[in-house]
Amino acid sequence: MDMQGTVDAIADAMAGETDRGAVARYIPELAKVDPARFGIAVATADGGLYAAGDARVPFSIQSVSKVFTLALALGQRGDALWRRVGREPSGHAFNSILQLEHEAGLPRNPFINAGALVVTDTILEGHQPREVLGELLRFVRAASGDEAIHIDEAVAASEQRTGHRNTALAEFMAAHGNMVNPVALTCGTYFHQCAIEMTCVQLALAGRFLVGAGDGPHLVAPPRMRRILALMMTCGHYDASGDFAYRVGLPGKSGVGGGILVIAPGRASVAVWSPGLNRNGNSALGTRAVERLARETGWSVFE
Ligand code: GLU
Repeated sequence: MDMQGTVDAIADAMAGETDRGAVARYIPELAKVDPARFGIAVATADGGLYAAGDARVPFSIQSVSKVFTLALALGQRGDALWRRVGREPSGHAFNSILQLEHEAGLPRNPFINAGALVVTDTILEGHQPREVLGELLRFVRAASGDEAIHIDEAVAASEQRTGHRNTALAEFMAAHGNMVNPVALTCGTYFHQCAIEMTCVQLALAGRFLVGAGDGPHLVAPPRMRRILALMMTCGHYDASGDFAYRVGLPGKSGVGGGILVIAPGRASVAVWSPGLNRNGNSALGTRAVERLARETGWSVFE
């Protein structure tokens, strides 16, 4: 199929969309991003790279970073990680504290904020934040083959100043004995990991470590890769994970910066970005774009 033609047509269609969602405002630095942006990049297992729209404009990957930290934590701790965080969909908003109270400080999964804070706390144990962030950047740079990827300090500082809810989640888990490091250190590391800046092209290339075919980077053994993908399918879009699986049929992980990383196992890694979010906090146009891509390629895992 003509993949470049397909991504060009999707970018053209998205440029004409009027219902673009709303840019996240609770992190002040993210509120400045132009809502008219849309980018898409597809990195295929056979080494192809197809990009359209704003695919080379950097954006804040935010919660997409949780895929990379989960890969690192599983690499270090293996199944012991599951003593501190579950692997069930939450059915609650990304930053909800409600469930934590009921479930005694054990977050539902590694992709809601509480779970991601536990994952970061795990890889921080015995290290300094800058060592962990260095390791994370090394992983992402190795996955994408791009040494230029970095953290946007202005975004990290902006979230640090306003991250009361995440601090509350971490303090609550600390009260239940589910935080190893001082809360300020874990939260500071988490805010920085979320502030990694990437383009769709860089993110699509980085996602190849989860495609499991072709000569992408071999950073994670296949059994672990399948587990990360299962979690992306069931928990990657917060309380809209079921809707994403229904519409797209592929594992994905979204972030409030408007980026989504989607994996078509054995076939391709896809990154889309459009900063306007739907009411579940997932990119409105990004979701529509990958829904159309999956339909036109027949890449749904259920095809
Ligand atoms: N840094 C954001 C937060 O913790 C990430 C949330 C997201 O991307 O969904 O609020």
